Amino acid sequence: MAKPSPVITGLRCRCYKCGEGKVFDGYLKLKPACEVCGEDYAKSDTGDGPAFFVMFLALILFGPFFFLLPLAPWPMWGLVTGFIVLAVVMLAFIFWILPPFKAVLLNLQLANKAAPAEFED
Ligand SMILES: [Zn+2]
Repeated sequence: MAKPSPVITGLRCRCYKCGEGKVFDGYLKLKPACEVCGEDYAKSDTGDGPAFFVMFLALILFGPFFFLLPLAPWPMWGLVTGFIVLAVVMLAFIFWILPPFKAVLLNLQLANKAAPAEFED
């Protein structure tokens, strides 16, 4: 059986090794280990990486609209409504994309055996 891609399994929020076990126990809390193959997730730590990349992507996608919206010839209530709608859409996008993004980074870290640098004396 071919080893599943860490990116594809991450987008599905599944284990990089077996492609079946779920990575999260809740919204973003990692399970201690894979429920199917027993792969230990505790040795991995994605830190702030997923949040940084997702916020950066959201900035690129939604940032221009926050600057262009005030240029619209709308009354004040229309602008306020536009800002609220834009903010809600952006937050929904962020909350939607954050778990798969974290799972992709986790899977890439585990599949490539990434670890902090160790120096010999
Ligand atoms: Zn697994």
